[in-house]
Amino acid sequence: MTRGQEIDQFDLKEKKLELIEIAKRSFAMGLQTNSGGNLSVRLACADAIVIKPSGIGFNECAEDNLMVCDLCGNILDGGGKPSKDLEFHCAIYRAQPEAGAIVHVHSPWAIGYSDLGVPFRCSTVQSVGKLGELIPCIDLAPGGKPQGAAEVEPVFANPETKAALLRSHGTIGVGRTLMSAQYVVELLEETIHSAFAAVVIRRHFGESTDEELGLQQPTGFLKSEGPFRNT
Ligand SMILES: [Zn+2]
Repeated sequence: MTRGQEIDQFDLKEKKLELIEIAKRSFAMGLQTNSGGNLSVRLACADAIVIKPSGIGFNECAEDNLMVCDLCGNILDGGGKPSKDLEFHCAIYRAQPEAGAIVHVHSPWAIGYSDLGVPFRCSTVQSVGKLGELIPCIDLAPGGKPQGAAEVEPVFANPETKAALLRSHGTIGVGRTLMSAQYVVELLEETIHSAFAAVVIRRHFGESTDEELGLQQPTGFLKSEGPFRNT
């Protein structure tokens, strides 16, 4: 099964269970619906990863349908169909030796923004602190095809890059653990959603007075009749 690599079964089981937990968490949060997206985790015992195969939804991940591959994409274990994302997962692990896990999702707010094809500037204190100021947007492959290793690897060759948008496709988060990689895509989705809310709120309330916004109470409020009357 291992093509010369010894796979520790305890390590393998632990990583599979972790992947299943994070996949279900991402599904429950609406970061990934249907059978798209992908996630993987590096084994501690070998230069190999556990990854979800093609056609299996995040919510359907189970110990017996996950695959084990080496960092060149060769299948070491598992009978499913390798995902087309396998190529760029392997490229990121090769480029960033400290990367322990990758989560790639098709989350709706991030996809909406990524259609612009430009980097996203983080605006919240949380996102700037955890993701950096500017999130790169990786263009589609030639012919409008989904991004592969050729497009993704140059961006993640910078070890500081932990998050990226994939134009008209989704996001990638990299972390030391599956949970930290999932937090990256979760925070990026939340930050883009917040940025949209800020634009709408500014447009509707930017010219409003404090009174219209409810920031000032009318004179005599405390003397009014009712349950909160000032006695
Ligand atoms: Zn995808």
